[in-house]
Amino acid sequence: MHIDHEPKLDFKDVLIRPKRSALPSRAQVDITRKFTFKHSPNRYGGIPIIASNMDTVGTFEMARAFAPFGLSVALHKHYPVDTLAAYFKKLKTKSTAFYSMGIAKQDSDKFARVMRGGASAVRYVCIDVANGYTESFVDFVARFRDTYPQLTVMAGNVVTGEMTEELILSGADIVKVGIGPGSVCTTRSMTGVGYPQLSAIIECADAAHGLGGRICADGGCTSPGDVAKAFGGGADFVMLGGMLAGHDECAGDVVEQNDEKFMRFYGMSSRTAMEKYAGGVAHYRASEGKEVLVPYRGPVADSLQNILGGLRSACTYVGARTLKELTKRTTFVRAGMQTNEVFAE
Ligand code: 5GP
Repeated sequence: MHIDHEPKLDFKDVLIRPKRSALPSRAQVDITRKFTFKHSPNRYGGIPIIASNMDTVGTFEMARAFAPFGLSVALHKHYPVDTLAAYFKKLKTKSTAFYSMGIAKQDSDKFARVMRGGASAVRYVCIDVANGYTESFVDFVARFRDTYPQLTVMAGNVVTGEMTEELILSGADIVKVGIGPGSVCTTRSMTGVGYPQLSAIIECADAAHGLGGRICADGGCTSPGDVAKAFGGGADFVMLGGMLAGHDECAGDVVEQNDEKFMRFYGMSSRTAMEKYAGGVAHYRASEGKEVLVPYRGPVADSLQNILGGLRSACTYVGARTLKELTKRTTFVRAGMQTNEVFAE
């Protein structure tokens, strides 16, 4: 047994210290980024925020709503082959939509069929497993890289530098970071496993950038300020689930309770998801996600404006003209209190 005595941080443990700057207005802040990748020849351009590949938020409708803003969606993996192939076939080649998959044989077979369906517009792939620490996952990423050298591969999830390095050296362009921070994730209470998300971002970003790789901070953002902290900590991309739930572009019905409107939102390892896609929870496992009702919030464009406005404002406070500069200009201060709750309900 070993205890790591270094303090590790979550978003709620810090604030970003303001800095003097010559930036006149947040309207002048550029929050788009351009990336090249370690392995694939693609050139990315856009606002590096990605809707999570959960079946509630990683939808075609979300992708359509995001496109004018330049954000990305990781499409969930439960769409049928033909629908996915048709979608990618119609996409402009500049699209940054991610195709999502697991590492089972059926996932590879399905991907090969989508590619054969003429979907050469697939340029970004998200290879997603709950635990990115297994040898079989690393082998899968390496084989996938060999088969598809042209694709930008995002792989995860992990939370430590050494595994980030291993995945990048095995063929990942972007490593997805986060174990247990998600809004509908119960991994930490079910297993005791996890890593404070801001420290995971800082440490994995450092490891990835040293090798020319990128990271995507996945999970745990509850406000635009958390998104700013994730980028400030070194994330190249930020993935959002819960913050995008409850909108018109999400899959699922609006339910009414006591004259208020809600939408169902659940983890992809929840009982709800396993019953929907795997015929129930297998006897050797427990669900590691939960289902919640989130208030119905209307069109996602309105919420996006909030998120992007918050991010621009964060850049202005530290004098970052571009999102790229935000990390360099970020100093985190440890905070005992985040917000004044005196008028909270
Ligand atoms: P959020 O933005 O809602 O805090 O986090 C979204 C992320 O939570 C997803 O992108 C995914 O990595 C993770 N997640 C989604 N469903 C589950 C689940 O059922 N169990 C666990 N452990 N994580 C989940």
